[in-house]
Amino acid sequence: MSALDQWLRATIEVTLRDAQNAGKSVGPVWDNPSIGDLRTSGGELYQLGDRNVAIHMAANDPHETIARCEAELAILDAHAIVQVSGIGEDMRATQVPACRTCSHKHGVPCRTVRLLSSGYRHRDGYDDDWSPP
Ligand SMILES: [Zn+2]
Repeated sequence: MSALDQWLRATIEVTLRDAQNAGKSVGPVWDNPSIGDLRTSGGELYQLGDRNVAIHMAANDPHETIARCEAELAILDAHAIVQVSGIGEDMRATQVPACRTCSHKHGVPCRTVRLLSSGYRHRDGYDDDWSPP
């Protein structure tokens, strides 16, 4: 597992845990029943006073965030680094790192993992060298 894989998995897991905790506190599903208001499935009503903020928060409620994090973790699993047969610098057969799905032609971590990580590029610890080419 690369440093990028480790950082990204940990970052997604923190986001997932935060969403699960928020869901336990006020309910997993939020909506905006009227302009500037946010209502949770736990019965809380927050008068935010800003329609755009309420819509954004409802679209990123714990229910949605948990689903997104679970999908991202599955993508990371699908693009894990494995060892495959290849040719080393000495032109002898050896084991080389490769993406489980993309193979080794495009390097590791693969472009999919780099693109996935770019969605978290504003979080602490993100390395700009991880940006997709
Ligand atoms: Zn891949």
